[in-house]
Amino acid sequence: MASKIVVELEKKIGKTLILTGEALRQRYTHIWRMDQPLNALAVLLPRTTSEVSEILKICHAHNQPVVVHGGLTNLVGSTEMTDGQEIVISMEKMNKIEEIDPKSRTMTVQAGVILENVQKAATKENLLFPLNYGAKGSAQIGGAISTNAGGLRVFRYGMTRNLVLGIEAVLADGTVISSLKKIIKDNSGYDIKQLFIGSEGTLGVVTKAVLKLVEAPKSRNSAWVGIQTYDKVVDFLKFMDSSLAGTLSGFELVWNSTFKAMTSPPSLMKPPLPYDYPYYVLLESLGSHQERDLAAFQALLEQALEAEIIADAAVAFTASDLEWFWRIREDVAVFIGQCENDQQYDVSLPIPSIGQYVTETVEKLYQIPEVNLVFPLGHVADGNIHFSVGKTEQSKELIAKVNEVIYQPLTALGGSVSAEHGIGLDKKAYLPLCRTPEELQLMKTLKLAMDPKGILNRGKIFS
Ligand SMILES: Cc1cc2nc3c(=O)[nH]c(=O)nc-3n(C[C@H](O)[C@H](O)[C@H](O)COP(=O)(O)OP(=O)(O)OC[C@H]3O[C@@H](n4cnc5c(N)ncnc54)[C@H](O)[C@@H]3O)c2cc1C
Repeated sequence: MASKIVVELEKKIGKTLILTGEALRQRYTHIWRMDQPLNALAVLLPRTTSEVSEILKICHAHNQPVVVHGGLTNLVGSTEMTDGQEIVISMEKMNKIEEIDPKSRTMTVQAGVILENVQKAATKENLLFPLNYGAKGSAQIGGAISTNAGGLRVFRYGMTRNLVLGIEAVLADGTVISSLKKIIKDNSGYDIKQLFIGSEGTLGVVTKAVLKLVEAPKSRNSAWVGIQTYDKVVDFLKFMDSSLAGTLSGFELVWNSTFKAMTSPPSLMKPPLPYDYPYYVLLESLGSHQERDLAAFQALLEQALEAEIIADAAVAFTASDLEWFWRIREDVAVFIGQCENDQQYDVSLPIPSIGQYVTETVEKLYQIPEVNLVFPLGHVADGNIHFSVGKTEQSKELIAKVNEVIYQPLTALGGSVSAEHGIGLDKKAYLPLCRTPEELQLMKTLKLAMDPKGILNRGKIFS
């Protein structure tokens, strides 16, 4: 049965676009596990939307499960195989930027374009694609869309959802749904593209997108700031946001233990501030005039220091300072690499509740004897906190124990088990903590309507 499908697929799209045997074993399911060979039936490398459609028509006819691979940077097991009998559709050959339209401020791209290439192409036109996060050099735009990625500038520009104007996607049965319009406003019925955004490849394969660009800022200012209490972090956020009148674009909170790990060996980065403060904030303002904005930015920090909202500040004065400050934040591999048997989290909850939640959670995590490292940090202005947890051992029970500590309080706090990474395989047991039974039922109804045989990313998000 299985090889019959591969033969049929070979006939349809050609042998060169199908990997099996040794070529397949050279592949993997995640960029952090390149040493673990892929266990799947075949990897398909379509170059066009019609090839994706032909592949899905055949898979649908055979009830063949399919997993879509983008840049393989997700953090929730959503590109893992569930039984090794899946066919992988890898989007890497659909990597063309089809059009940049500076007047409409849009970019039309194939799904396999790497996020960083989108950013660079926008910059060349004096425009900005604001989506930005540490995995930008590997993550594909189709992966960012499918996970509704967030990152470092959500506070000002929104999630991926807010940056996509049009989508072309292929349904499980091969039907192509195409709406590649460049318009911002479109209330002509249901906003179908939103179904594909954040659904982790379970409702369709995204093949193209029209991305929304914004005018490139003419100034960029950043500072690392030391703060004594969590309440003052919240005061500082309100102070800077109201004073900067809409130009605050980043407000990243890093707890002391994480800041130390980011800026001491094996990290090559030196700390911009001493290790004296419980909280560190990296902030960014994007504006219209470098000298004027820097002066205003500095003046605001001085006011915050005088009012004792913040305790210390280091301002970036040069391009290399900016590069240094942001590399400290973006190079998460530096502290994640110190965590053995690591578990990654991206919870969200109301901003005022975060301080106490993190203090209590870190305390409870260290009560688990096998937990030896906990690094909290987050996009606090979006109510989104990450934890990296390291352990001396690995077992299903231990993973569940850590999950319980982090996820259980979220229901009462009105939070979510995933702010931006999605559910994948890793979090599906915890989805009911933040979604009602009625919501879950509606999700399943939608899944059934769009993928009646359940072939797309089977077993991800829910069973
Ligand atoms: C160092 C690091 C930092 C990160 N920082 C952030 C961050 O700040 N914010 C954030 O939101 N995320 C972050 N992430 C995780 C983030 O979700 C992913 O990096 C990215 O969005 C996924 O893109 P990808 O191309 O790698 O997709 P993959 O990992 O390949 O796939 C992710 C999911 O999307 C599906 N998929 C991929 N392409 C398609 C397609 N064309 N059509 C349909 N389904 C598809 C897959 O089946 C899978 O379910 C980070 C990851 C790393 C490793």
